[in-house]
Amino acid sequence: MKDGGDRVNNRAGAKALERRDSAIEALRASEEKYRDILESIEDAYYEVDLKGNVVQFNGAFCRMLGYTSAELMGQNNRAFQPSEAAASVFATFNQVYRTGVPAHSFDWQMIRKDGGIVTGEGSVQLVRNLDGDAVGFRGILRDVTERRRMEQALRESEARFRALTNLSSDWYWEQDAEFRYTLMDSRHARAGSAQQSFLGKRPWETELEIEGPGGWQAHRDLLAAHRSFRDIIMHRTLADGRPYYISVSAEPIFDGNRSFIGYRGVSREITEQKIAEERIQHLATHDSLTGLPNRVMFSHLVSTAIASAHRYQRQCAVLFIDLDRFKFVNDSLGHEAGDQLLKAISKRYKKALRASDVVARLGGDEFVVLIQDMQQSSQVATVARKLLSAATRPVALAGRDCHVTASIGIAVYPQDGDDEQALMKNADIAMYYAKDEGKNNYQFYSSDIRAQSLERLALETNLRRALERNEFTLHYQAKRELGNGRITGVEALLRWDNPELGPVSPARFIPITEDTGLIVKIGKWVLRTACKQNVAWQRMGLPPICMAVNLSARQFVDERLVQDIAAILKETGMAPHLLELEITEGTVIQNAEHALTLLGEIKAMGVRLAIDDFGTGYSSLGQLKNFPIDTLKVDRSFIRDLASNAEDKALTEAIIAMGKTLQLTVVAEGVETAEQENFLREHACDEMQGYLFSKPVPAGEFAALMSTHLHASRK
Ligand code: C2E
Ligand code: MG
Ligand code: MG
Repeated sequence: MKDGGDRVNNRAGAKALERRDSAIEALRASEEKYRDILESIEDAYYEVDLKGNVVQFNGAFCRMLGYTSAELMGQNNRAFQPSEAAASVFATFNQVYRTGVPAHSFDWQMIRKDGGIVTGEGSVQLVRNLDGDAVGFRGILRDVTERRRMEQALRESEARFRALTNLSSDWYWEQDAEFRYTLMDSRHARAGSAQQSFLGKRPWETELEIEGPGGWQAHRDLLAAHRSFRDIIMHRTLADGRPYYISVSAEPIFDGNRSFIGYRGVSREITEQKIAEERIQHLATHDSLTGLPNRVMFSHLVSTAIASAHRYQRQCAVLFIDLDRFKFVNDSLGHEAGDQLLKAISKRYKKALRASDVVARLGGDEFVVLIQDMQQSSQVATVARKLLSAATRPVALAGRDCHVTASIGIAVYPQDGDDEQALMKNADIAMYYAKDEGKNNYQFYSSDIRAQSLERLALETNLRRALERNEFTLHYQAKRELGNGRITGVEALLRWDNPELGPVSPARFIPITEDTGLIVKIGKWVLRTACKQNVAWQRMGLPPICMAVNLSARQFVDERLVQDIAAILKETGMAPHLLELEITEGTVIQNAEHALTLLGEIKAMGVRLAIDDFGTGYSSLGQLKNFPIDTLKVDRSFIRDLASNAEDKALTEAIIAMGKTLQLTVVAEGVETAEQENFLREHACDEMQGYLFSKPVPAGEFAALMSTHLHASRK
């Protein structure tokens, strides 16, 4: 049995051996397969025992850490763990150990042999023996070093972008290929904010308006061409009515295939900047006092109006307005009153005009009006009349009513000038003509006016140099007592002889010296020359006579007047009671308060005062009686027609009588005939002046006249 049993045993043993061999073979094959698989995967495979010693791994694991497999085998994983990562790796392994639940997708940072850090995204699970006891861990690691680095870079750049948008007032936005907003982002981003409601819309489908030539169409063309753009200005009105301006810049986005996929850009709020710019623009184009457009703006508007009138074969007109007595108000009532007057007048002008017309202030007391789309000249004349009456209504200044008038010159496109400059210049010329024509009227430009204005210009230019070129002289006209025929006084009258223009009459050049202010300097010269002459005659042995000197309204508002008179009297040695200053009634009445003070001061020096040209200025003697006046000179116009005009006779009689009651010396001007003289003597007029006795003559002739006269009366 033993043999048989042995055989049996041997067979069984051989079978068992065979089975074991095939099992070993199968195991080897399986291990080889398993090894092949491990080696063929790109991810790193590892196994560690419970102490963390590496017991199994693949080539990818070696490559990841940069060690050879011999160097790795048996190493403890702590050897390639950065200390700051160790705690979290341990925590993960510990949790897997305690729960038996594998962990996935955790990052495991490791130190390579060369010192570099690699990040593996890994999994870990427990390894158990046949008895189910945990003996180690295994898992897969994928090298994500590069990916994590890029993710970090992206996170940083996003953080930077967010910090930027947080710091700025900018909106970042994106549009799709159809230019619809797909994203609107900024620190202002709020659900429901207007910007959010832009999503899905194209810019021109929102409430935004675009600035710049071409408007939305130009912008759409630009987008269609996929061009980038900078600082395009768009605006809208906020719910509370305030304007909201943005400056928009953007560039097109293309995908990897160079095909267009949309736009991305930024919108920066520039409302404040825009408002500041508009304010600056307003300041640059408007007059700060009245708020009206200024010269710059007006020129621009006129040019535009001319271009449009040219296109539609229409006319337009420019009205040049100058306030007649503004300088006087400014000088006597002060700049503040002057400013108030200008404001009041500009308001009235605005009210008097249609919305399509423009009124601007050029500076000083000069205004201009542009009448667009004018049909006929009667229409412009109506406007001019309206403007005249707007100025005439009194303005309450410093508690009193102040009156001014205006002079208006009109130039019409195209007949009076075909560009802005010509039109303005000709309207200005016409305005000067209106002034010459007695002010408070309007004049249309014409070539006659132009000739006159050229002449005036020549006068003005020459007048400016006349004093220093010694072109002025004084002539003297005697005043004679009607009773006894004695020469009681003399009036100094200015004469101008210019080498180019010849002798020019005072009626022509005095108004120009008044307008330009030249009269102040010239008047001083007259006063000094007349006083010197008077003293010289006395030194020659002639009896002292009263010297009358004319004073213009313009000199009357010169603040140095009193000082100058005193200085000249002192300098020339002239006795004050021998000087008589002639002023017109208008000068006195127009600013009574100022006149009262000034006349008082002059009177206090002992100088005499006369009212010249009385009867022409609509003032009554009653008005004049409060002023310290000595003499009344009846205007020549009354005397001229005494013989034929009963009314003039009656008036002259009345003036003489009233002057006497006020104890004034009454002088008749312009006496040319014996008949006039007799009438005046009969009515007890005190003195007379006129061609009948003597024309104004040079100083030498007057001295001769005086001495013959003295001689004759002594005989
Ligand atoms: P006025 O002060 O009324 O002077 C009298 C004007 O009448 C003078 O004219 C004189 O020549 C003129 N005249 C005198 N008698 C007769 C006459 O019998 N018949 C006629 N037809 N005329 C007579 P003139 O010299 O041409 O001066 C005109 C005006 O110019 C003056 O009027 C005066 O207002 C102004 N004027 C003259 N010289 C000066 C001056 O030095 N300063 C100022 N501010 N004005 C002056
Ligand atoms: Mg006079
Ligand atoms: Mg006179």
